[in-house]
Amino acid sequence: MTFENLNLKQSLLDSVKREGYQTPTAIQFQSIPHILNGRDLLGCAQTGTGKTAAFALPLLQLIMQDKSTAKFRGIQALILAPTRELAIQINESFKAYGKGTGLINTCIYGGVKQASQVSILKRGVDILIATPGLLLDLLQQRIIELDTIRYFVLDEADRMLDMGFIDDIKKDHPQAS
Ligand code: AMP
Repeated sequence: MTFENLNLKQSLLDSVKREGYQTPTAIQFQSIPHILNGRDLLGCAQTGTGKTAAFALPLLQLIMQDKSTAKFRGIQALILAPTRELAIQINESFKAYGKGTGLINTCIYGGVKQASQVSILKRGVDILIATPGLLLDLLQQRIIELDTIRYFVLDEADRMLDMGFIDDIKKDHPQAS
């Protein structure tokens, strides 16, 4: 299996080459075709097995295709991560893989001055990586709107639930268990 076999666009093939990846990892070759086909996916893989590229590469491709039709505006993809460290790491990966795609990504997390994060958001981003606490805060302040989002990733969903975010989910959806 090669990245070429996965039907990725040239700019993404160039990115994986630049990163020095020779072949897709197991989670990558299993996930990428499903996501490119627009299907939902629940993936389990240990840390360090390449799961960020498994969702980032196909999402970049889908958003590039969507944008080429010029129909879609606003934040297209939301990635939730349990910690600031992971959010920063995912943002760096999107930046590296998305070089040459023209897409803009940013990450937001608590514990830093909000103004600079908000000004980046106001300039417009395609892909937003966020920790749940700050996202909820910015939603409540109506700084972020989620109605343009077409792709949603919960990274390390199990860890987020362990951290107690089920309470926030239940607040809006009491039927969730
Ligand atoms: P992740 O599990 O997404 O945190 O990735 C772990 C590490 O594997 C990161 O340093 C990636 O740059 C690297 N990586 C991701 N995909 C591949 C691949 N196909 N071949 C080699 N290294 C990879």
